[in-house]
Amino acid sequence: MLHYEISESTPQSLFRSILLRHKLTISFLVFIAMFWAIDLSLRPYLLKIILDKAQDTPDHISWHSIVYPIAIFLFLTIFHNILFRLYDYLMLKFKPALKKNLVKDLMAYCMSHSYSFFQERFSGSISSKMSNVSEGVGIIIEIGINRFLSQFLAIIVALITLYYVHFMFSLVFMVWIMVSLWHIQYMSKHIVKLSKNVSDASVEVNGKIIDTITNMIAIRSFNSYQRELKMLEGFLGERVKKEAEIEWFLLKNWVLVGVNFVTALGVSFYFLVNGLIQGHLTPGDFALIIFLYTSISESLWGLSFLVSQFSRLWGQVNQGLEDLTKLHEIRDDDNANPLVVPRGEIVFYNVSFKYKNSPMLFERQNTVINPHEKIGLVGLSGSGKSTFAHLLMRHFEPQEGRIIIDGQDIKQATLSSLRQNISYIPQEPVLFHQSLLENIQYGCDFATNDMIVEAAKKAQIHNTISKLPNGYNTIVGERGLKLSGGERQRIIIARAFLKNSPIFILDEATSAVDSITEDQIQKNLYRLMENKTVIVIAHRLSTLLRMDRILVFKKGKIIEEGSHNNLLAKGAAYAALWNMQVDSYLEQDVNT
Ligand code: ADP
Ligand code: MG
Repeated sequence: MLHYEISESTPQSLFRSILLRHKLTISFLVFIAMFWAIDLSLRPYLLKIILDKAQDTPDHISWHSIVYPIAIFLFLTIFHNILFRLYDYLMLKFKPALKKNLVKDLMAYCMSHSYSFFQERFSGSISSKMSNVSEGVGIIIEIGINRFLSQFLAIIVALITLYYVHFMFSLVFMVWIMVSLWHIQYMSKHIVKLSKNVSDASVEVNGKIIDTITNMIAIRSFNSYQRELKMLEGFLGERVKKEAEIEWFLLKNWVLVGVNFVTALGVSFYFLVNGLIQGHLTPGDFALIIFLYTSISESLWGLSFLVSQFSRLWGQVNQGLEDLTKLHEIRDDDNANPLVVPRGEIVFYNVSFKYKNSPMLFERQNTVINPHEKIGLVGLSGSGKSTFAHLLMRHFEPQEGRIIIDGQDIKQATLSSLRQNISYIPQEPVLFHQSLLENIQYGCDFATNDMIVEAAKKAQIHNTISKLPNGYNTIVGERGLKLSGGERQRIIIARAFLKNSPIFILDEATSAVDSITEDQIQKNLYRLMENKTVIVIAHRLSTLLRMDRILVFKKGKIIEEGSHNNLLAKGAAYAALWNMQVDSYLEQDVNT
């Protein structure tokens, strides 16, 4: 369960749901902010009273007329201190928890994005957007309550105080404040926009850095350090440009704020001196008004500065949310049911599919895979074999037609049940940065150690693991880089053995393994394949000798199908592919 409303959220809707969820804490924080605001004007007002009293002739000063205001003043100071320590305590509890919830929510939401969401983005940019949002939200709330609201209230209270002391001055200040607030909101709008651009540029920079790190081997082997740095410089330059735009905007506007304040001060002095000369103002009034001018102008400066900070963060949060919280492209239907697979029959019915911005790949594809049938998919690279598997798992959705497993349209099945029923061994074996044991156990949460060892044996990886100093507890290294491609593949195969789903898809899963190991894995695979529907995508055709049927793909079409022997006898596309491979093996033999 998510803590907040994440789907398609804007900063506004996210903050609303955070406020709702933390009503009590936030109300209390707001109360403290309000107290602070009132206090900010109340104490100067008390000072005015004290000052006016102090000016009386000594025989007129009575003990309690001056002691009371002083006592209240002292009490307010103490209360102020206590409340603020309480504020610190609440924030200390609230902010880290909020950040934790947000990261968790965003991650949970993002994990359900479609396969293409991740294909289209730098992984670094996704993670930096997540941290932009989770860091930004806490600071926005803190600024919003502690500083923003209180500065704003302080101004209002100051105005009210002034209204009672001197009506004329409250009018003058009102005009000044209105002008300033209008200017502040104008600044805010622009900063949000500019800051979104800065965040965009920063996210690109991070994405590029992570991409460079990911491709370190290529960079070394092509000695392309300079090229990478130059590319990074391009991204950095873009960010510098966007940052400069914001700074320029601020600089120009701070000048305007300054002019505004000096004008207000000049006008106030004019009225003050006039008032004193004409006897409308007491020295206490004079002191109070100067004090209130100072405090309002401090608040306004504060507000302008806060608004600039606030708007920057708002832009940053907005930028992250806009992308991360997009509606899931592929999601459970409202009345989705769990998929039940007693037999394992797969039907592609009139399936048409194309990738975004690409030409049509499958056109009205009709294919029936019988229960427990073992199917091989072959064809040149790019002919659509992996896509066939992706469609079956709903990593992508066909534009037309239906894919049916045991009579149930997979579009109406829950995604989790669909994927639970399919064991998929992908083309690129990537492992988690965890122990080998955990990596294999991934296939089945309740697997015992014995079950894990058993699966590793079947995948021909047990012996290799046993020879490692830390055995099954060896940590794999990020993305499994500490193992060879073939070893990683076997770990993933072991994982699939454990998962033991009724449908099995191997996407060139044994292509990185040498022929002898492949042969051994094959034997176990056949054992595993019993009573399962199996789709094997193979580059090495010798893998497919024992398949019930082989489908030959060409540019998204199935151009031939039949058993190995039939297809060979037919002497067409499959036979040509086969002969090509046999020749190249013979050649290898001759050469070695
Ligand atoms: P195979 O597995 O047979 O090598 P694929 O199914 O991976 O082929 O790809 C079929 C075609 O679709 C290729 O032309 C490939 O470039 C294209 N393709 C694959 N994945 C994507 C994608 N995510 N976006 C756009 N085009 C893609
Ligand atoms: Mg492929």
